[in-house]
Amino acid sequence: MAALPAPLQRVVERLSRLPGIGEKTASRLAFNLLNRPREQVIALAESLLEMKERVGLCAECFGLSDHPRCHVCEDPAREREVICVVEGPADLMAIERARSFNGVYHVLHGSLSPVHGVGPEQLRTNNLVRRIESGEVDEIIVATNPTVEGEATAVYLSRLIKSLRNEVKVTRIATGIPVGSDIEYADEVTMMKAMEGRREL
Ligand code: ZN
Repeated sequence: MAALPAPLQRVVERLSRLPGIGEKTASRLAFNLLNRPREQVIALAESLLEMKERVGLCAECFGLSDHPRCHVCEDPAREREVICVVEGPADLMAIERARSFNGVYHVLHGSLSPVHGVGPEQLRTNNLVRRIESGEVDEIIVATNPTVEGEATAVYLSRLIKSLRNEVKVTRIATGIPVGSDIEYADEVTMMKAMEGRREL
């Protein structure tokens, strides 16, 4: 790679720092950009800057927003009594895409991981606590990932919520066999979760 002109080399290096992009992909992207019309490259560079300058966190749910409050929190049709707690903004978007949830959200921006030194104080729970204490919440749906960290976070949140207001219902999203897949290929943990989460037909 040392033979590349320095400005091109810098683009390759910066792109390869992005997740999922190795040096090969970074080179391919850089060569592609180099061959594009100048205005397309400017548009890309400007959109990156604009994103960085204008997208921040919603003051209410900590989801991503280019306004003080996000479109979900601003929507009068959403049920404010039901809060779905997720680990990250991408989880919120995945749930929104499914269009089956009409409550509001709270984004933690992480999950508990003693191994990586992430304790309760690193999670963004302050605004969630305030919303629960205000008495406007009936149910908290814990939609953290079905991983060791996500489960630990779910247990922590459930205790925290119950200690704040015992009458708030705390539920956990179901996990199990993905729709359209075969039971014979499910791993042991998924199968166990599917059995635990069974419901009456
Ligand atoms: Zn919001």
